[in-house]
Amino acid sequence: MSTYSRLPVTFERGEGAWLWDNTGKKYLDAISGVAVCGLGHAHPAVADAVCRQVRTLVHTSNLYGIAKQQQLGERLTALAGMEKAFFCNSGAEANEAAIKLARLYGHKKGIALPTVVVAEGSFHGRTLATLSATGNRKVQAGFEPLVRGFLRVAYNDLEALHNIAKNSAEVVAVLLEPVQGEGGVNIPNDDYLAGVRALCDQHGWLMMLDEVQTGMGRTGRWFGFQHSDVAPDVITLAKGLANGVPIGACLARGAAAETFKPGNHASTFGGNPLACSAALAVIDTIENHRLTERAAVLGARIAEQLRARLQHGASAHGKLVNEIRNRGLMIGIELDRPCGELVGKALEHGLLINVTAERVIRLLPPLILSDAEADQIVDGVVELVTSLVSGERI
Ligand SMILES: *Cc1c(COP(=O)(O)O)cnc(C)c1O
Repeated sequence: MSTYSRLPVTFERGEGAWLWDNTGKKYLDAISGVAVCGLGHAHPAVADAVCRQVRTLVHTSNLYGIAKQQQLGERLTALAGMEKAFFCNSGAEANEAAIKLARLYGHKKGIALPTVVVAEGSFHGRTLATLSATGNRKVQAGFEPLVRGFLRVAYNDLEALHNIAKNSAEVVAVLLEPVQGEGGVNIPNDDYLAGVRALCDQHGWLMMLDEVQTGMGRTGRWFGFQHSDVAPDVITLAKGLANGVPIGACLARGAAAETFKPGNHASTFGGNPLACSAALAVIDTIENHRLTERAAVLGARIAEQLRARLQHGASAHGKLVNEIRNRGLMIGIELDRPCGELVGKALEHGLLINVTAERVIRLLPPLILSDAEADQIVDGVVELVTSLVSGERI
C-alpha cells in the first residue's frame, strides 16, 4: 500500500556505518534505520547470536518458559533500575502495553475514567491508542474517533502539569519522551524530569517514559532518563534494542510492575528466543565496547564541530541555523526554514540524513562510528546547509 513516500534508492548490503545500493554506490548512514541499528549494519556479534539461535530455536510462544527472554528481562531491568518486563515487537506495542497498564492501575484505584497525560509534539506510534497519545495532528487526521483518556500539555512545562493536577482527578499517569525525537530533538530543561517525578509522587501518578528512541545508549547513557536523577515507574523500549530484529519492551517497577495478571496482556511473537538473543548480543556489545560513553563523546564532537562551522553569525540571507541540539548521538540542527529537500540532496552525495518537524535536520548515526566517519558526517551536513543559502548545486 502507499503508506510511504520512499526515497529512490534500494540498499543491498551494509557494514558498520556504511550501506551499498543495488548499483554498488556507497552511503554513510547517519540515521541508522531511524535509531535502530545502533551497532551499525551486519554487526558480527549480533549476526553470530542470531545465526546460532535460528539453528537452535526460533519460537515456541509464551505458553512456555523462554530462557532467553528471562535473561533479557533480567539484564534490562538491572540496567534500568526496574523489576519486571513485558516483551512485544515494536515501539507502538510497547506503549500500548504501558497505556493498558496505566488504565488497569487506575481502575484498581477506583478511578472510572483513567486518564494519561501526554505532551504536545510527542510521538508514540501509529496504533489507535498510540496515535491518540501522539501530539501531532497529521498522525491523527482521518482516523477519528480517537481513543479517549488522554490529556495534552505543553512539553517541558511543569506549570501546565501543576494545573492538570489541580483540575483533573482522573489522571493516573504521564507518558513522555525524555527527549522528543520525531518532534524535532527537543531537549527539556535539566529540572524537568525531576519536576515531573515530584508531581507524580505527590498525586500518585505513574511516571512513564517512552524511551523507544532515546534508549539503548543513544543519548550517551543506557536510557535517556539517566541524565536526570529520577527513577520512572515505567519505561518503553524498541528501536535500538535488537539492532533491527523486531522487538519492544515495557519495563516497570513498584506497584506498576505488579499490575498485569495472567490474561491481562499478551503477544504471540513477543520475547521469542530469536529477538531476545539479538537483544542480548546488543547489550553485551554496548557494554564490552563502552558504547554509551562513546556515544556521548561522538555526539559532543559532532555537535561542537557543527556549532563552530554553522553558527558563526547571521548570513546575508537570515540566521539560517537557529540552534544545534544534541544529547549523545541524538542530534538536531534546527534551521530557520523548511529543509526537507536536503534529504534527497544528501542521498545524491552518499549521505543518509533525516529531516523532522519540517526544519530540523536529524542525525541518529550508529554508536560504532569512527572519529573519521563522524567528521565526514559533519563535512556533509555543513556542505548541505551552506548550499541552502548559496543556492549552489553541490
Ligand atoms: C519510533 C517511535 C515509536 C514507534 O515505534 P514503532 O516501532 O514504529 O511502533 C514510539 N515512540 C517513539 C519515541 C519513537 O521514536
